[in-house]
Amino acid sequence: VPDSTNGRLDSWKEIAEYLGRDVRTLLRWEKEKGLPVHTVPGGKRRTVYAFKHEIDAWLAKEQPAEENQQSAIDQPLPTQMFWRRVPAAIWAALGLVLLGFAAFGAYRWREISSPTLTSILQEGNRLVAISPNSSVAWTYEFPGGPANVLKSLVVPNPHKNGAAGVLVTVGLGERSGDALYFFSPRGQPVWQFQSNDTVSFSSGDHKLSWGFNLIGTLQQKDETKILLTTRGYTWWPSQVLVLNMRGEVESRFINSGWIDTISIIESPRGRMLAAGGVNNSHNGGAVALLDASGFSGSSPEEPGSAFECKSCPPGRPLKYFVIPRSELNVISGSSLYPAGGEPAGSTVLVSKHELPGSIGQPPPASIIEFSLDFQLHRASYDDHYWEWHRKLEIEGKLAHSREKCPERDGPPFIREWTPEHGWREIRAPRR
Ligand SMILES: [Zn+2]
Repeated sequence: VPDSTNGRLDSWKEIAEYLGRDVRTLLRWEKEKGLPVHTVPGGKRRTVYAFKHEIDAWLAKEQPAEENQQSAIDQPLPTQMFWRRVPAAIWAALGLVLLGFAAFGAYRWREISSPTLTSILQEGNRLVAISPNSSVAWTYEFPGGPANVLKSLVVPNPHKNGAAGVLVTVGLGERSGDALYFFSPRGQPVWQFQSNDTVSFSSGDHKLSWGFNLIGTLQQKDETKILLTTRGYTWWPSQVLVLNMRGEVESRFINSGWIDTISIIESPRGRMLAAGGVNNSHNGGAVALLDASGFSGSSPEEPGSAFECKSCPPGRPLKYFVIPRSELNVISGSSLYPAGGEPAGSTVLVSKHELPGSIGQPPPASIIEFSLDFQLHRASYDDHYWEWHRKLEIEGKLAHSREKCPERDGPPFIREWTPEHGWREIRAPRR
C-alpha cells in the first residue's frame, strides 16, 4: 500500500481490504481478539473506522494470518487497490462558510522542515492532524459549524520527509456542490476547489453540481498531482480530474455514468488509470482506460445517443470496456453494478457484482481477466454466481441447469471501444 493513502480506514469494506479478509472475519476478530475498530458516535447504522497504525500494531501482536483459511474463498479478488469508493457522508449536518480562503491563495510550494502527519480526524467542526507519536500536530476549525468532511488525505512530500499538505473533501450538498480544500503541512488553508458547470448532452443541457467521491495522489514525473473523481448529484455524468498542487485542473474526463473506483495500472504501454463504474447508454459496467500522464475528453457513446457529450473537451480514453448485465442480474431485476479493475500480478482483474451481497454472503460477480495491456484473457462468473444460479433453479425461477445455461462459460461477450475500431464485441479465447 503506497504512502499516499490516508492512515484511516473509513468502513468495514476498507478495513477488510486492508487486512485482506472478509467482513465476517473482522466482526469475529473484533469480538474475540480485540481488533481495534472505532465506532462513529450517533447515526442509525453502526459506522466504523480504524487506524492503520493501530491495526498494524494489533497484527504484530495477534498474528491471525494462520487462521481462517476460509477467508480466501470469501475474497474473490485480490486487494491491491489502494483507494476506493468513499463511504457516503458519515458526518452530521453541515454549514460551512467559504470565506477567508482567497486570502491564502498565494501559497508557495515550499515548506521548511515539513511536519510528518499520519492521519486527519474530525471532531465536530474541527479537523485534527495527528503526528506519528499520536500527538496533535494542528487543528483547524471550520467556520460556521460542523463540516461534512467526506475524506482526508495527507500528501507526502516527494522531495523530502514530511507532508506536502493535506487534502480534505467537504460535502456541501446538491445546491452548491462539494468542495476540495488544500491545507499546508502546518494547517493553513491554501486553496479551495469546486467544479460546478453546465454540460451539454444530446438529451439537453445539464446543470451539474458535483459530489466528490474519490481522492488520491498521482505521481507525474517528479511532481505530485491530485486525482479526484466527482459525480453529479442529480444527473448521471461523472468526472475524473487531475489537479496540480495549486488547485488547477490539468486533465478532465467525463463519463456518462457514475465512476466508482479508480486504480493505477503499470501497463507495457505506460502508466494508465482504470476508472471503473457504469455506462448508461450501453447499460453495463464500464472501465475507461486513461493515460496517467495526461488525458481529456469524454466516454465514447453512440452518435446521437442521449448520453453523447456535446460540450466536453475533445478526446477519448485509450480504451473503454462495457461488461453487459448477466442473466442473473437481468432476471432478478437487480440494479446495475459498477465494474472495477485492479492490477493482480501480471493481469488486471475487472469485477462486477451481479446481485446484492450482505455480511457473510458475498455478492455473485463477473470476473474478467485482462493482460496488463488490456487484451481479454478470460471472462467468467465466480462460484457465488453459480450458487445463486442453482438456488433460483430450485426455486423454479430459472428453467435450466448450469450445464444447460447459455452463459455457462461466463459472460458471452464484452463490448470494447478503441480509437482504431470503435465499438465491437470481443470474446475471451476458448479454453
Ligand atoms: Zn443460466
